[in-house]
Amino acid sequence: MTSAQHADEPALLPAPPPELPAPYRTDARLAMQQEARRFTAEQVKPIADEYDPDKREMPRSLLDELGARGYFGIMIDRAHGGLGGGVFEYTMIAEELARGWLSVASIIARGQGLGTEFPDDAKRAELLRRSARGRWIGAAGFSEPDAGSDLAAVSTRAELDGDSYVITGHKRWIGNAKAADFIQLLCRTSDPEPGEKRSAGLATIILEKERDAFPPGLTGTPIDKIGYHGFLTWDLVFDGVRAPAANLVTDSGAFRDTQKWLNIARVHTAARAVGLARAAVEDSVLYLQEREQFGHPIGDFQALRFTLASMAARVEQARAFYRQVAHLLDCGQPCERESAMAKLVATEMAVDVTGDAMQLHGGNGYTTERQVERYWRDARLTTIFEGTSQIQQKIIADSLLPRSPLS
Ligand SMILES: Cc1cc2nc3c(=O)[nH]c(=O)nc-3n(C[C@H](O)[C@H](O)[C@H](O)COP(=O)(O)OP(=O)(O)OC[C@H]3O[C@@H](n4cnc5c(N)ncnc54)[C@H](O)[C@@H]3O)c2cc1C
Repeated sequence: MTSAQHADEPALLPAPPPELPAPYRTDARLAMQQEARRFTAEQVKPIADEYDPDKREMPRSLLDELGARGYFGIMIDRAHGGLGGGVFEYTMIAEELARGWLSVASIIARGQGLGTEFPDDAKRAELLRRSARGRWIGAAGFSEPDAGSDLAAVSTRAELDGDSYVITGHKRWIGNAKAADFIQLLCRTSDPEPGEKRSAGLATIILEKERDAFPPGLTGTPIDKIGYHGFLTWDLVFDGVRAPAANLVTDSGAFRDTQKWLNIARVHTAARAVGLARAAVEDSVLYLQEREQFGHPIGDFQALRFTLASMAARVEQARAFYRQVAHLLDCGQPCERESAMAKLVATEMAVDVTGDAMQLHGGNGYTTERQVERYWRDARLTTIFEGTSQIQQKIIADSLLPRSPLS
């Protein structure tokens, strides 16, 4: 019971959890949503509340639990041990997990069949099965010190030497790199010929590795972040790291494939941002009932009620939009512009809404005693990774407005 309650008063009302609306509702989806919600409340959030303040990595037992529930294989077909869902189910579960801890909603993206695109059918099938169980968890190695928004500038080299590639270069921001079973690397095997696009010569190599170790020639240094704790983010220097030639899984289409992967990743980020903003709304609903000033619960003050109303409306709006784009992706539409729009809208919303929640919490919001500061720190990242807000605006604008030849 809180200071604002008396013995004969009902317990504080939590915010009502959002239900799947009719057009998307199926029994299977409802059951998945309920399970993810329960799991988040009982296991994910308590661990986040304990581990995040000390910047600790999530425990192996939590990863095992995610694997046992099939969350690394939501989009993998049932024949390979996955849940057989699509982008809709993936983002729906990601929102639930992000309500507890952003990092948990993020780590599931390192399964979902990532790093399984080997031409050998038997190997691909085996890796898909491992991916679905959380036994083939990867790291996405795209960004570099001088290639962030501009991925075509990737300069890490992979040179063929006999039956292996020798990798030399520098990657930055690579989440989960040491704990991973593999790193999916965007590398340069050749330079573009005159007249070719700058992205020509980029290839994808799957670097297989042991968990919790780096292979010979690879040095990693963790980057000290202000949030997004739960797994480490690495600066990686490659000095002659070897990968079998068969691990080059995409040659000329690597850049295009990366962009396609990013369309799903951006809707996933939108869902994660909605999860964080929803957490901020739910915590605010409780706090507005709990905290008293001027002899009233502060939730009686209309200014704060209106702030809460606008926060909740913006969360619903962003959720409706990302669900629509997830559904369209499942229908086979490319949705490059729509994914960019969903990410832009949801992540900017999450920054505003978590900031508003901090304001509603007054001084208590600016402490580590409450979780609203975690939502705010983590939401701040969502407008930066998977392409910044400006890059989403660039994608949207380029699809709407041709450039003049002089620009
Ligand atoms: C915590 C964290 C985790 C990450 N995890 C991963 C990961 O696991 N794997 C991975 O590969 N990468 C990862 N990233 C990298 C992330 O995707 C990049 O940080 C992001 O794409 C931005 O690149 P940058 O940091 O180099 O910024 P820059 O590209 O240098 O951008 C700096 C500023 O310039 C703006 N800008 C750049 N180009 C344009 C333009 N054309 N028009 C207008 N504005 C522009 C940007 O919006 C930004 O405001 C992570 C980053 C962070 C911070």
